[in-house]
Amino acid sequence: MSTDPSILSAQPPVTVAIDGPAGSGKSSVSKQAARRVGYGYLDTGAAYRALAWHVLDRGADTADETAVLDAAEEFPYAISLDPDDYWVRVGDVDVTGAIREPRVTAAVSAVARIGAVRERVNDLFRALVAASGRPGVVVEGRDITTVVAPDAPVRILLTAAPEVRAARRSAELVTHDAASVAAALHRRDAADSQVVDFLTAAPGVTVVDSTDLDFAQTVDAVLDVISAARATPTPEDTDGR
Ligand code: C5P
Repeated sequence: MSTDPSILSAQPPVTVAIDGPAGSGKSSVSKQAARRVGYGYLDTGAAYRALAWHVLDRGADTADETAVLDAAEEFPYAISLDPDDYWVRVGDVDVTGAIREPRVTAAVSAVARIGAVRERVNDLFRALVAASGRPGVVVEGRDITTVVAPDAPVRILLTAAPEVRAARRSAELVTHDAASVAAALHRRDAADSQVVDFLTAAPGVTVVDSTDLDFAQTVDAVLDVISAARATPTPEDTDGR
């Protein structure tokens, strides 16, 4: 097998597309799977969250489409694709923690439903993958398997039963009561699913249901799909890309 680095670096990164609802374990599973295969990790929800943060930071209302589009015009967004050194910045501000605050989570769906915002961030995601300098990138979100990278050689829908997702999310947010965390999660799923369908698998997408799996088992299940898919050429593989 050739290991000439000039040949390897000439290949564009392999995209592993992973979609799923909130609390499915998508982020932590995608990050760990990326580590295991030596790929980059791209959290696409962070872009929508950071834009929502940016709108709020300007004192604007995320329900005001014009205000969101104005904020998107001046949005100096940066994100790390290193699964071992994850950060998100808007200009000089590190917003890695701030974009997880409930006030941002509650505002993000309004930003994500704007078509022009989606087109812009989707282009950004494709550019980030292309410039990653990694052999592949695990890209996780809601519309990666269908819109951002429909030709990706590996496409996975990571699901879990609603009550399991709510329980996981509430274990993460220990300072908030379980009922309000569950209500917020279901509200966000309902709003998000009007924009993109991330609850049913598109043709060719493999479902990994983590309801009865622990974290390590879910990562292994995802790695199995990656190995199996990489053994079968797909349009992206044979496209000369
Ligand atoms: O994945 P996460 O929960 O961080 O995503 C935050 C929000 O970003 C989602 O609730 C959704 O509104 C939006 N999103 C999206 N499409 C993606 C990723 C996230 O609309 N690919």
